[in-house]
Amino acid sequence: MQLTDLNRHGEIGANSIFVEIGPFKILIDAGLHPKQMGYDALPDFEPIESVDLDLIILTHCHLDHLGSLPIVTAHNPQTPVITSAPNESLAPRMLRNSINVMKRQREEHGIGEYPLFTHRNVAQLSKQFSVQRFEKGEIYLKGKEQIEVILHPAGHVAGAAAVELIYKHRRIVFSGDVLFDAQRTLPGAHLPRGPVDTLVLETTRGAKNRESGRSRSSEVDRLIDQIGKVLERGGSCLIPVFALGRMQEVFKLIYEARNFGRLPESPIYAAGLGMDICNYFDQIRRRTRLIDFDLSMLKRMQVKPLEPQMRPGRDLTKKGIYVVSSGMMVAHTPSYHVAASLLPHPNNGICFVGYCDPDTAGGQLLAADGEDRFYFDVLDYSAPKRASIDRFDLSGHADRHELIEYAESVEPRSIVLTHGDNDARAWFETELAERMQQTAILNPEPLTTYEI
Ligand SMILES: [Zn+2]
Ligand SMILES: [Zn+2]
Repeated sequence: MQLTDLNRHGEIGANSIFVEIGPFKILIDAGLHPKQMGYDALPDFEPIESVDLDLIILTHCHLDHLGSLPIVTAHNPQTPVITSAPNESLAPRMLRNSINVMKRQREEHGIGEYPLFTHRNVAQLSKQFSVQRFEKGEIYLKGKEQIEVILHPAGHVAGAAAVELIYKHRRIVFSGDVLFDAQRTLPGAHLPRGPVDTLVLETTRGAKNRESGRSRSSEVDRLIDQIGKVLERGGSCLIPVFALGRMQEVFKLIYEARNFGRLPESPIYAAGLGMDICNYFDQIRRRTRLIDFDLSMLKRMQVKPLEPQMRPGRDLTKKGIYVVSSGMMVAHTPSYHVAASLLPHPNNGICFVGYCDPDTAGGQLLAADGEDRFYFDVLDYSAPKRASIDRFDLSGHADRHELIEYAESVEPRSIVLTHGDNDARAWFETELAERMQQTAILNPEPLTTYEI
């Protein structure tokens, strides 16, 4: 097998891996880099420019895996895109939103090449989907050769799949983004057992261990307690959330906490793409039973849209819980605006529940510990920091020791590291080399082809 990582910047970046196994040319994922702009956000597709892909496989619908897929399918209009049933409906919705964001950025930042693809390209991609059920292999033929593709549930987010390829009794497993813990809306990962020949492993959380004594469920308890405290002191509580997955999970956590009398009834306000994703989740539940999210919950909680008139520094007139995207408080998003209203008032609180990149407003607010003001640059507003700011670890990724345990259990002959910052990959490289001396560990250079 030959493997080329097309993610040109390394780190987490724009995920896309090209593998050649026997006669089969297969692309796994085609993402967009969340922090780069324009063409620089794309994987480097040069190595596959003159290649006719036999199969494309989509693991899940986060944009770092999905965001450039319409460009690949535009060049490979006959190639099946193998994915799970939830992804088939979520992918077009996420991509259409991405087009709208790119169009806005074209205006704001003068990026001439945006949007990188069109609604027509997304419609074309939709026709190419070939849905597979989890844990049910499908055989694909080329001449006299055949390859089997099996998708396994990877937890992480609705639809997320790990990918197993079987060619001439060789088993290659791509973990994709994976979470072993169950979420309130989604069971945890159920990855294939060993032995496997090659494991391509995500390394997102390699740089840090979870704080000792803390688990996902104890973090949920802490979050509910903190929301309760903010409401009790008469404040509003902002929870910035990712639209796909985290918003729906937070709704469910609040709903259950209320039913158990752990949170008082209070108004809930919500906004952003995530509200639309709630509708999709409800449809996916009814169709596939793969996720556990019921839209009627939002009606019972009377979730309301945001008040339109928010002004920086002027406290929100309606007190309650604000569950709004984006999760990292990126400028121009609802969570950015809600934060600018709520931060100067000591009764209020902000609860971060996921990863915040250090370059985003959320990351900067968390880093600016000890400083007494925070500057919202898009609004040109310097806010006194008086609301409480807390962070809860509800990550969608497995802990590093869980991934090591899995890697050991499947006894691979080789492990390829992916989807991690440099320090995260370095930790895995050292740890795996020490524990698994019979296994070849590869931390691939971008755009270099390796024989594995
Ligand atoms: Zn992901
Ligand atoms: Zn990812």
